[in-house]
Amino acid sequence: MSRDRSVAVGIEVGGNKATVALIDAHGLVRHRCYAKTLRGRLVAPTLDPYIRAVDMILAHAHAERWPVRGIGVSIPGMLDQSERRPLQIPILPALNGFPLCDLLENRYQSPVRLLVDVDAAILGEQRFGAGRGFHNLLYLTVNAVVGAALVVDGQLEQSALRYTGHICHLPVATSGPRCSCGKLGCINTLISIDAMQKMVQRAWRRGEETQLMQRLLNREYFSHSLLAEEALRGDSVALQVYSEVGRWLSAAVMRFIDLFDPNVLILGGDVLCTGDLLLTQIHQLLAASTIPSHRQIAVLPANLGSDAALIGAVVSFLPASFGKRRPRRPDVADTPVPPAVGLPERQIIYWKPEPVRDILA
Ligand SMILES: [Zn+2]
Repeated sequence: MSRDRSVAVGIEVGGNKATVALIDAHGLVRHRCYAKTLRGRLVAPTLDPYIRAVDMILAHAHAERWPVRGIGVSIPGMLDQSERRPLQIPILPALNGFPLCDLLENRYQSPVRLLVDVDAAILGEQRFGAGRGFHNLLYLTVNAVVGAALVVDGQLEQSALRYTGHICHLPVATSGPRCSCGKLGCINTLISIDAMQKMVQRAWRRGEETQLMQRLLNREYFSHSLLAEEALRGDSVALQVYSEVGRWLSAAVMRFIDLFDPNVLILGGDVLCTGDLLLTQIHQLLAASTIPSHRQIAVLPANLGSDAALIGAVVSFLPASFGKRRPRRPDVADTPVPPAVGLPERQIIYWKPEPVRDILA
């Protein structure tokens, strides 16, 4: 292990919470805390929980005598061309156009980099995760929506949106549910979490009664992990959902490979990281392809899990010599955060999971 004790502060802004963490030169999360995402507020109250969390985590770095190299911020939205401010964050429109980098640099006297979440995730996977050793990477993520990012010749394709288009609306079918954009067959209506939820609802309307349905009727909340758990138990509805999602995902993957010719396709996000249910289908499809390039591409699950964007946001601050061999992750995830030096604990708004709506109601 290196003697380099420096860290960088990663901030991943999400729909319900932001994760703020100290990340070391090996890409390991040394300490983390959470701040609630407050929607529908003006700029100052929107940023307040995040700022307090950064104050606290920097106090921890100071107490540990860890030098801080910089601050990387991952946002779920778009940046303006200078990347010094968000252009559009659908969940936090108050921050659209706000000079976020300038504010953080002035407050903390530290360099700040802002990245779109999928771009941050592919950088994290490239340096410390499944993308190590590859030069042309395509990262595909499925959570609430479908996203993609590109690395070409080892460099992040900053304007990947120009190539990948609005990936949510990539057409992969000539029929299917109508998308918010007005078209049929957009990938987002076929493989997102929302799409999976609608498949379960359709099965319910068909009168299919399985263990999954019973659990939902017992007011368990619908989630990708519940679905995966029941699929592994052999629940017929859960297996139908994975089969359908796998079919559409495979069609989308073939399109992506033909368009971007990557060496490796990395699948991230909550839906795609749920066991081998979907990965197996894609591997079988590619292995059976008659096109040689399809059989040569590596299709791998994201290695950094839900921390990919958090870690990727800070890679530009970490020494380039690290990351070739990643030590085993210490078990630091979600450790309770002790009160920060000089900061009352009540200043931090801790995140608590919010219940998902009852989908069979
Ligand atoms: Zn669409």
